[in-house]
Amino acid sequence: MKPLPKEFDAIAIERKWQKKWEEMGIYRFDWEDKTRPTFSIDTPPPYPSGEFHMGNVLNWTYFDIVARYKRMRGYNVYFPQGWDCHGLGIEVQVEREHNISKRDLPPDKFRKLCEKLVEKYIAMMREGVIRLGCSVDWTTEYRTMNPEYWKLTQLSFIILYDKGFMYRGKHPVNWCPRCETAIADAEVDYEEREGTLHYIRFPLEGSTGHLLIATTRPEFIPACVAVAVNPVDDRFNKYVGRKITVPIVNRTVEIIPDENVEPSFGTGVVMICTYGDKEDVKTVIRHKLPVVNLLTQDGKINQNGGKYAGLTIKEARKAIIEDLKAAGLLEKTESIRQEIGVCDRCETPIEILELPQWFMKTRILTEKVEKAANEVVWYPDYMKTRLIDWARSLDWDWVISRQRVFGTPIPVWYCKNCNEIIVAKEDWVPIDPKLEKPKIDKCPKCGCKEFIPEKDVFDTWMDSSISCAVHAGWPNREDWRRLFPADLHPSGVDIIRTWAYYLMVRHLALFDEKPYKSCLINGMVLGSDGRKMSKSLKNYVAAPDVLDKYGTDAARQWAASGGATGSDIPFRWPDVEYGRRFLTKLWNAARFVSTQLKDYKVGEKCELQLLDRWILSKAEKMTQKVTEALEKCQFNIAVEEVRNFAWHIFCDQYIEAVKDRLYKPEVYGEEKRKAAQYTLYNVLYRILQLLAPIIPHVTEEIYQNLYAEDKGQKSLQLTPWPEPVKENMDEEAERKGSLIMALITEIRREKAEKRKPLNAQIERVKVYAGKSEYASIISENKEDIIGTCKISQLEILSEKGEGRKVQEFPEIAFISEY
Ligand SMILES: [Zn+2]
Ligand SMILES: [Zn+2]
Repeated sequence: MKPLPKEFDAIAIERKWQKKWEEMGIYRFDWEDKTRPTFSIDTPPPYPSGEFHMGNVLNWTYFDIVARYKRMRGYNVYFPQGWDCHGLGIEVQVEREHNISKRDLPPDKFRKLCEKLVEKYIAMMREGVIRLGCSVDWTTEYRTMNPEYWKLTQLSFIILYDKGFMYRGKHPVNWCPRCETAIADAEVDYEEREGTLHYIRFPLEGSTGHLLIATTRPEFIPACVAVAVNPVDDRFNKYVGRKITVPIVNRTVEIIPDENVEPSFGTGVVMICTYGDKEDVKTVIRHKLPVVNLLTQDGKINQNGGKYAGLTIKEARKAIIEDLKAAGLLEKTESIRQEIGVCDRCETPIEILELPQWFMKTRILTEKVEKAANEVVWYPDYMKTRLIDWARSLDWDWVISRQRVFGTPIPVWYCKNCNEIIVAKEDWVPIDPKLEKPKIDKCPKCGCKEFIPEKDVFDTWMDSSISCAVHAGWPNREDWRRLFPADLHPSGVDIIRTWAYYLMVRHLALFDEKPYKSCLINGMVLGSDGRKMSKSLKNYVAAPDVLDKYGTDAARQWAASGGATGSDIPFRWPDVEYGRRFLTKLWNAARFVSTQLKDYKVGEKCELQLLDRWILSKAEKMTQKVTEALEKCQFNIAVEEVRNFAWHIFCDQYIEAVKDRLYKPEVYGEEKRKAAQYTLYNVLYRILQLLAPIIPHVTEEIYQNLYAEDKGQKSLQLTPWPEPVKENMDEEAERKGSLIMALITEIRREKAEKRKPLNAQIERVKVYAGKSEYASIISENKEDIIGTCKISQLEILSEKGEGRKVQEFPEIAFISEY
């Protein structure tokens, strides 16, 4: 064993091993291996935002720990990496960067700009994944924007269409007027904003009276199709069935009874418009009311708005309020805090528009989703209710069409004559209907030979929500069921409603099987001020800054130790600094071991002493605890267990207590020195193995220098996970050893308090053991106490006495003379 160098450069070590591991190919899944059990991770293909941020560091550290742990446990681990390229986010950035709208360029040119931006972002994020030391199998890398992937998304659509899950319908959808596309419920964020409640007089027909209606959206007056009151509200139920005049447009509508009207909100009388909000949609369906479409796709008033046509929503609101005032119909206004839905990509308030769209029937799956969610193992368990609650809360089916450019084309055409829907056949895909005709001669219904291509593209979640099957090799590999369902699906707490949910409904619909067996949830990364980390809050820390300053192994310790799995985790520089200091401590300990084991040979005869048996037993118990914690994805417990053991028990106590034995074989005898060597060798190796999933780089460097030759594995990552050795567990040795260590620690503590150097000689120490059992334990091991504390004369008495008390054993006291 050759001594480790004094200094170590954590970042250089990390770079070196990241490169070597890739060259060795040790993280590749072995498709040919049929002996080891498989473990497949459904790595979420990230949306390339161009930044691998601290949230990603947290997320990827979690499941990389699992991957490395499972590999050491003997699994053939499948750890793929893809990129979820399509979507509004990239389009919005391209529009901003080039100061254009998607309509200013032909679709293929616009798409090229998107692809270019995505490639740039992927390169940056891939670098982040590599720098974090993730044990990804890079031969699996894929991009959802490539036609090979389109094929999979389109195929899954065709299968679900044939199974009756996909339909085209005219149904109100969430609409972003800035992005000019439909968006799903999961893409709507809710924000509190200041609004104004307008009290408006609606004249009753056939009388001089009026009803007062309070609304925050007076611009929707031209689309008012009814006025509703609660039938139990005695103030107003007498008006039910009568006609009322909609001001400004002077149409009459009926006053209808509706139990969902809240008598205490506003005036208790509400106008039903198409569509001011989701409630309006429900009321219109319940009462079969007519629909007046008021908005254009880019958020302007259309011809149904009469004189307001062409105005933006804001302009129309202003103009209508002025006109109401002029007509004497605006009684008063009040400001109000209201929650409004905004587009999660551009924060524009969303509207509700009714246009033909493609939908997936998801609500009919809610019961199956709930059943499957209960079968899945959740880390932590309480997260499963988030998925179930979300599934139950959905009002609408999933709108899967997007009126955008950068997405997988919907493989559909329409007959020009009779509008018949022509869905591509399975063997036509990948196909872009805008560029290719359907592979049929004529419309099967009317014989027409002309077809209109579908211009819409799929919601990007249509691409990524089949990842569990795609990762497993569906549909190309015959044996794809071997890796399906995925053993682990990792997800952020914020994307349970999208990623975890969409995966569930797609796979249940496609294969009638749940997509993953377990789900590992990470919380959000908070700033040091406890608020969600965000660039606008000035509490933002960029991941490269952390990795450059303290290295990956320190950052991974922060991620693993920051809090319970699933909880939000604050980013604190001191946590990373602690991680870095731990690495130095570990390195120095390993270096000490390497200098003391120059002549050590595995298998040499030795005579284990009490303190050797004490730490060997403790190491077994720690192994058991760490293993249990990792089995339950309790990373914080695992990392704290090993770090405390390594730092405080191995370094501070054991190493200090055996130095004298190592340095003076002439006093103690060669077999006792060998025993200390044996113990150092085995305990350090155990620490390295248990840390390997969490701190892969520095542990590998130490392994290569100290152990690789003996252990015969080319990487620490390939060594088998240690099983706790029952024979090494020795309660008596632990009890006696703790006593000896406590006494040594107390004598050394006193020395430090007296400001003496630790190697200062103590003339005399008189120990009052308190009872004869303690006295004999101390007597049997007095060599270690004398040697470690440098005592000339040690006197051991079994009676109680006055003196400095030993913290963990207050019955024992001692007096020392220098
Ligand atoms: Zn938007
Ligand atoms: Zn036709």
